[in-house]
Amino acid sequence: MIKNKTQIFFLLFVICVCGNIHAQKKPNIILLFADDAGYNDFGFQGSKEMITPNLDQLAKKSVRFKQAYVTDPTCGPSRAGLLTGKYQQRYGYEENNVPGYMSAVSAQDNEEMGIPVSEKTIGDYMKKIGYTTAFYGKWHVGGADRFHPTKRGFDEFYGFRGGARDYFAYKKLPKDRLNWLEEGFGNYKEHDGYLTDVLADQTINFIEKNKTKPFFAFVSFNAVHTPMDAKEEDLKKFPNLKGKRKEVAAMTLALDRACGRIVEKLKELGLEDNTVIVFTNDNGGPTDKNASINTPLSGTKSNHLEGGIRVPFIMKLPKQMKASTTYDYPVSTFDLLPTFYAMGGGNVEEVKNIDGVDLLPYVKGENVNRPHESLFWRKDGRGAIRKGDWKLIRFPDRPAQLFNIVEDEKELYDVSSEHPELFRAMYKELFEWELTLERPRWMLKKSYEKYDIDRMDKYWNKGQEKSDFNTKKDIKN
Ligand code: CA
Repeated sequence: MIKNKTQIFFLLFVICVCGNIHAQKKPNIILLFADDAGYNDFGFQGSKEMITPNLDQLAKKSVRFKQAYVTDPTCGPSRAGLLTGKYQQRYGYEENNVPGYMSAVSAQDNEEMGIPVSEKTIGDYMKKIGYTTAFYGKWHVGGADRFHPTKRGFDEFYGFRGGARDYFAYKKLPKDRLNWLEEGFGNYKEHDGYLTDVLADQTINFIEKNKTKPFFAFVSFNAVHTPMDAKEEDLKKFPNLKGKRKEVAAMTLALDRACGRIVEKLKELGLEDNTVIVFTNDNGGPTDKNASINTPLSGTKSNHLEGGIRVPFIMKLPKQMKASTTYDYPVSTFDLLPTFYAMGGGNVEEVKNIDGVDLLPYVKGENVNRPHESLFWRKDGRGAIRKGDWKLIRFPDRPAQLFNIVEDEKELYDVSSEHPELFRAMYKELFEWELTLERPRWMLKKSYEKYDIDRMDKYWNKGQEKSDFNTKKDIKN
């Protein structure tokens, strides 16, 4: 009898210990990151034209964030914010890409243009808590050697340092090596095949190689950024589309296939239930460049309308982390750093001086407050603040405007004259936030602003001249 009891206790002890070990096993983390994709351009976001079965399937198993923002409506600064978990302007990374007309000199000459080496990245933090880390694809946060991903917290790198490149191997290499394909550090070698597929191959190899230990892969696709390179077989899937729209659809199909293959590999290795998978995008679609569609939102890449800064964002959690299927309050991609760090067993309290928060308590319903009372954006004189349901945008060429984003997500009704006190308070709060920022380390010529503003107006309210509207009564529905 006693012997049996002992056996039972021993069995229970083993079950508890094993169960505990299982519960504490660090989840793997895969960040699937698109470039310049339209807010609407995925099946799970409502598109009827795009074919994205793999991402749609992933979305069904994920928390879908309905108001997810990036820290900037352009590539480089948005990535800097995500990588460091904070507003990039705090270290002088203004809302400007590293300017192409200067980077044409050489990657080495852009000494100041990148995330300062004094900043820690998400890769640094994940390594600190025992993760093997990899970065694949587009980097675009500093071309000089000291800004290289392998020196910024990533054990492995396969991709390019710059902001855009051909999807097929260059037949003739450009003079500037910023966008040459590079494996590890300084090993330049053009790839075979289509880059979106190749980045999935790299990720799959990495998963295979590290299947027994916790890993973090940042898969930074350049899809669907220009140039509009698509595979013939993918183009054929869209007989009813034409021109750039057909090309962006084919490029998105390839992106979906790549994401699907990565998820399939996790399944095959039995890792899916213990892997966090996030899919999101770096900034709103530049409709005039790649025929992406941001509806129902107004605006595009490079402006502060919702279509520039609000992105598709889904997070598939490991089996043991139960959460709601949608999340409504505004979040930011800079929340990923503390969220991943906490999921990996790190103590977020130790991550000093960031703006992001661990999202898990919010999506699990343990914290019912907003993750952020206010969110901010700035580029030179332009700026925006989201506070509660409200958003104020400050323009370079006209008075600021105020919108209620929950009632008016298309930003058609400027209600600043109806809420003068709120308008003033938010304008002031934006300024107070700016007082905490570093001076910009580099800036674009002011003339570049015109293109951004023209594009904003062109894609605001489907091309109507928004600047003439003042109040609701001026709008004819
Ligand atoms: Ca981009």
